[in-house]
Amino acid sequence: MERIKVVLGDITEQKVDVIVNAANPSLMGGGGVDGAIHRKGGPSILEECKQIIKKIGHLATGKAVITKGGNLPAKYVIHTVGPIWGGGSYDEEEVLRSSYQESLRLAKENNLKRVAFPSISTGAYGYPKELAAPVAVSAVSDFLDKNPEIDEVRFVLFNNDTYSVYENALKRGGGLL
Ligand code: ADP
Repeated sequence: MERIKVVLGDITEQKVDVIVNAANPSLMGGGGVDGAIHRKGGPSILEECKQIIKKIGHLATGKAVITKGGNLPAKYVIHTVGPIWGGGSYDEEEVLRSSYQESLRLAKENNLKRVAFPSISTGAYGYPKELAAPVAVSAVSDFLDKNPEIDEVRFVLFNNDTYSVYENALKRGGGLL
């Protein structure tokens, strides 16, 4: 599917309408891609996150919320919480799928047409990237099939290993392993 792209790079540098953050339920920032987004985007993103947390308490896994992009080239950031890998029998696949699709639903609702995702859950949250990549690709591909409003979804991978795994998953169309 040509609307899905896989690139090697830093998500904070992407010139798209919205980048997705692999956040944690507190939305208070953290390590990995979350830390990078807050560092580069500046304090206005954290301020907005705090306002959201005041209203909702915490962000549940598989859900997503949106803030502006602060100093980032992208105008908006969608914050989603992926599953923590627990061995595969805790609905991790379903929750990961939900993180991608809830993020895309928010992008669509806000009329944002070009979206960049990191490899959600495969860092500190421990989801094996070989298992996460086909789920990510098929979740995005299924959403795009039903929603022509989104022009492009870019997976932005931070290292060569992860890049290769996503490239392979895309070649297989997100199909089953
Ligand atoms: P999680 O807690 O969901 O596992 P992490 O941020 O720990 O999130 O890791 C998710 C993925 O994001 C990992 O593959 C990590 O290498 C990658 N990553 C870290 N920094 C960046 C960045 N600036 N741009 C894109 N990907 C990044």
